[in-house]
Amino acid sequence: MTLLAIDGITAFYGHSQALFGVDLNVAEGEVVALMGRNGMGKTTTIRCLTRLLPHRDGTIRFAGKSLAGLPPHRAARLGLGLVPEGRRAFAPLTVEENLIAAARPGHWDMARVTALFPRLGERRAQRAGLLSGGEQQMLVIGRALMTNPRLLILDEATEGLAPLIRAEIWAAIRRLKAETGLAILVVDKSLKELSHVADRAVILEKGRTAWTCPMVAMTQELADRYLGV
Ligand code: ATP
Repeated sequence: MTLLAIDGITAFYGHSQALFGVDLNVAEGEVVALMGRNGMGKTTTIRCLTRLLPHRDGTIRFAGKSLAGLPPHRAARLGLGLVPEGRRAFAPLTVEENLIAAARPGHWDMARVTALFPRLGERRAQRAGLLSGGEQQMLVIGRALMTNPRLLILDEATEGLAPLIRAEIWAAIRRLKAETGLAILVVDKSLKELSHVADRAVILEKGRTAWTCPMVAMTQELADRYLGV
């Protein structure tokens, strides 16, 4: 069953057009990798999906409803769990307060989030501002899960982190997929990590969907053509 259907969206920053026709579907339980070189429109697509930027042409339907005209908090309430680029935990709050502030009823609660990220359990009473970058990123993912989303959206969730922490975050994403069947839209530069978790790849080029294929069909030739520098 289709959970998210983005059809032919365009988007502008002022007069400057950033998206020229993006198509992107995510089915229930599916993990989709949104790929493309820098500046091709991945983050802009996510901003349109989460209603931080209005799209102009085209449609976005989520869980059977059009998102047109909805403010971001209403779209979030339909089940969009965003982990935005850059880390934004509430620094003065503790880990536990950060998680509880985001909570909505459902499968995910403190116990499940701290089982997924044991470091968050260990640092439950610590202020978020004192966590390492990797721990803050885990907290931001934990916060998104606490909202009990139907679609988790990860925008460069491992960017700038140490290799060991990256590995922990990728392992958590694979567990999310295997154990909960959560639908995930993931933007990342690591083709290797994506190939271990994604079902399908959608590649953007110059603000358009240029290619989509099952992840197992992502060849080196495609990667060189669309992702190489
Ligand atoms: P990256 O991997 O660098 O984040 P991306 O694929 O996410 O790349 P976007 O950030 O969506 O790309 O950028 C798409 C286009 O929109 C680029 O040409 C970029 O310069 C432009 N753009 C992005 N943000 C803004 C903004 N706030 N104002 C004006 N133009 C922007």
